[in-house]
Amino acid sequence: MHNVQHYINSTFVPSHSGETFEILTPLTNTVIGHCASGQPVDIDHAARAARNAFDSGVWSKMKVKDRAKKIRTIGDLILKHANTVAELEIEDTGIPRAQITKGAIPRAADNFYFFADQLEALRGDAYTVNDEWLNYVIYRPVGVAGLITPWNTPFMLETWKVAPALASGCTVVLKPAEWSPLSASQLCKIMQEADLPPGVFNCVHGYGESAGAPLVAHPMVNLISFTGETTTGQIIIKNGADTLKRYSMELGGKSPNIVFADVDMERAIDGALWQVYSLNGERCTAASRLFLQESIHDEFVKRLAERVKNIKVGDPNDMSTEVGPLIHHEHWARVRHYMDVAREDGATILVGGDRPADYAKGNYFLPTLITNATNNMRIAQEEVFGPVLTVMKFKDEHDAIRQANDIKYGLAGYVWTNDIERAHRVAASLECGMVWINAQNVRDLRLPFGGSKWSGIGREGGELSFKEFFMEAKSVHLPLKPAHVPRLGG
Ligand code: ADP
Repeated sequence: MHNVQHYINSTFVPSHSGETFEILTPLTNTVIGHCASGQPVDIDHAARAARNAFDSGVWSKMKVKDRAKKIRTIGDLILKHANTVAELEIEDTGIPRAQITKGAIPRAADNFYFFADQLEALRGDAYTVNDEWLNYVIYRPVGVAGLITPWNTPFMLETWKVAPALASGCTVVLKPAEWSPLSASQLCKIMQEADLPPGVFNCVHGYGESAGAPLVAHPMVNLISFTGETTTGQIIIKNGADTLKRYSMELGGKSPNIVFADVDMERAIDGALWQVYSLNGERCTAASRLFLQESIHDEFVKRLAERVKNIKVGDPNDMSTEVGPLIHHEHWARVRHYMDVAREDGATILVGGDRPADYAKGNYFLPTLITNATNNMRIAQEEVFGPVLTVMKFKDEHDAIRQANDIKYGLAGYVWTNDIERAHRVAASLECGMVWINAQNVRDLRLPFGGSKWSGIGREGGELSFKEFFMEAKSVHLPLKPAHVPRLGG
C-alpha cells in the first residue's frame, strides 16, 4: 500500500487535517494506497516555504554553474530511478510500459538537462543610444511558481514545468492531479536526494477545488502554469484575478489530421494510428479528427479498421501492450458516453466502442473508429481524451482547411501530402499552435509548445517558458555622461 504525503520544506508531511483520499489503480479499480489530501492550510505552508526560500536568495542567487549542476543532478536521478518511476506510473495511470520507458521517462530527464543548458546560455540585450546611453535588459526570476498538472503522462508533464521553473531561479509549489499522485511522490524523493535547499521545491497533493484553487488564490504565489481542461483553465483565470496572477495555460484540443490522396497510405495510416491511440488516447495533442480526401476515403478506412482491430489492448505491464486501461472509472464512463452521443448524432462506430470482452475489471476500452461523421457532430467537436478516432471526408485543400479550422480548439495540426507547396500552405493556414507535416508528434524542446484559440494562452518550451514566463525582463538605463535632467522649482 502506498502512503503518499506532501513535500514541504524538504520534509514529507501528512495533511494538517490528517485527511487522505484513496489511490485507485486503473488496472483493477482497487485501492492501492492513500494520499494526503491538501487543504488551504497545507497550500499556505507550502507557499510560505517557497516564498521564504525565494526571498532568501538561496536558490535565485545561487551561482549559475551550481544551480545548473543541481538541475542536471535531478535529470541523472530520474534515470537512476527510472524503473521505480515506471512501475509507479504504470500502476497509477495504465499507460503501456513501452511508451513510459522509451518515451515519457527519458523525456522527463531530458527536460532537466535541456533547461540546465538554457540557464547557462541565458542572455540579456543591450541597446546603445548615440554612445550616450547604455540601456540593457536583464532577466530575473518572477518568484514563487504554482504548477498545476494533469493525470495524462503525469511525470513527464510535471517535469516539463518544474525544470524550467527551477532553472529560472523560481521556487515551486507543485499540485499534481489527484488521479495520479504516485510518480510525483517519487519526484519529491528525487528532489530530496538532489539535496535542493529547503523550500525550493514543494508538492501538495489534493483535489482541484480544495488544493488547486487555494494555490491559485494565494497572494505569495506569483504565477500559475496549468495544463488541463479548458473549463478548468477558465475557472483558474477567474480565481487568480484578485492576486493578478501571470498565467501559462495548456488546455484542451481536438486536433485535425489531414490526409491528401497523394500520400504513401501505409505511412499515413501509421501516423493516424499512433497519433490518437498512443498513451491510451489520453494526450492533449491527439489527432482525434481524421480528414481523408474523398478519393482515398473508402480504401483508407478499410485498411485503417483492420489495423485498429489489431491493436493490442491489455495489461500495461506487458511490454507488447499498445493500449492499456483508462485512468479512472469516471473517465471510462465519460468516454463510453461519447459512443451514445456519436450514435445519436448518426455516426457509425465501425470498430470498438466498449469494454473488451475479456476485461471485466479495470478501465479497459477498445480502440474505437468512428465513421459517417460530419464536423458539426459532438463527436467531432468535443474532446473525448480516449482511444477514439473520428473520420471525416474532404473535397480539396480549401475544404480541408475550412473543416479543420471549424472548431473552438487549436492545439496541433497534422498534414500528410507529398506536395511540398501544399504542405506549407496548409501548415500556415491551420489555426493552431503546432503543425507536423508527414510525421507524428516529435518534439524539439527548443520550439514553442502551446495552442491557439481555446487550447491555450502562451507557449512553453525553449526560452519561452524558462525566460519569458518564469522570468521577467528588467530594463536598466544608464547615461554614459551626465544626462540632461529638466529642473523644477528653480
Ligand atoms: P484533467 O481532466 O486532465 O485532470 P482537469 O482540468 O480536471 O483536467 O485537472 C487538471 C489539474 O487541475 C488537476 O491537478 C486538478 O486537480 C486541477 N484543478 C481542477 N480544478 C481546479 C481548480 N478549480 N483550481 C485549481 N486547480 C484545479
